[in-house]
Amino acid sequence: MPELPEVETIARDLKASIVGARVAAVWGSGLALHLGRAVDLAGVRRISAGRRILDVRRKGKFLLVDFDGGADAGAGTRTGARARGAATTGPGIVVHLGMSGRLRVEPIDARRAPHTHVAFALDDRRELRFVDPRRFGWLAPGAPVDARPELAGLGPDPLTELDEADLARRLAGVRAPIKAFLLDQKRIAGLGNIYVSEALHRARIHPTTPAERVRSRAKTLLAGIRAALELGIRNRGTTLRDYVDASGVRGNNAASLRVYGRQGEPCPICAETIRRRVDAGRSTFFCPGCQGRGAARTRRAR
Ligand SMILES: [Zn+2]
Repeated sequence: MPELPEVETIARDLKASIVGARVAAVWGSGLALHLGRAVDLAGVRRISAGRRILDVRRKGKFLLVDFDGGADAGAGTRTGARARGAATTGPGIVVHLGMSGRLRVEPIDARRAPHTHVAFALDDRRELRFVDPRRFGWLAPGAPVDARPELAGLGPDPLTELDEADLARRLAGVRAPIKAFLLDQKRIAGLGNIYVSEALHRARIHPTTPAERVRSRAKTLLAGIRAALELGIRNRGTTLRDYVDASGVRGNNAASLRVYGRQGEPCPICAETIRRRVDAGRSTFFCPGCQGRGAARTRRAR
């Protein structure tokens, strides 16, 4: 499933490619997507048809496409709001890529790939296409798009909004394992299983350590999170199975992963054998040398 670095890669590529283009028409397959939700095509058309694409950006693992609001959506106030770093308030669509969702920009006369569910015809003979064979992804309109319920409850972005003091405050009193804390999008947005494993290894924190016990190491943890995410972005994302960028190219980050998917291999830092454990059906990868034995060791050290 795409995490922050993969969505960021796609958002940057699309931003360079489609900002300024105007949507001429919207086509939909009519098939239901994630959890049987049909795409609100009428709503998508209302927000995008005849409108210019102003921006493509990321919020957590969500991708947002902003449209010119015209006279009816307070477009005149948006530039100022953006400049002050405030939430944008214009119309747009939010896209979640699910497991296998892809956004592609292709010539309008190129045949649409199988499993194309929504296509935005642009005024420059190209089409922005949402393709999703497994249909765990979805897209939805919003005006303002930032007020979509999926976005409203997201925690801060670890690259742009979170600082050490804020992270320490959020860790306080949380008895859940640090891994579960980091996966919870309401606490911090954008992390999934891959980058949580990598961040905890970099920070030398065992995944089962109670979150509140990591509070004094918030600075180290934040540095580990950022290093893992920034490397992922530099490598244009991690492809394990389905992920490709907006040009259909796989990411290069899998070769740079230190622990994720590497059980039985030597740790690149200390050469101990990397282990895999399964909690609630999800794999966790860690190095017993760098990351110790977690809760038990942390308790003894106190
Ligand atoms: Zn190690």
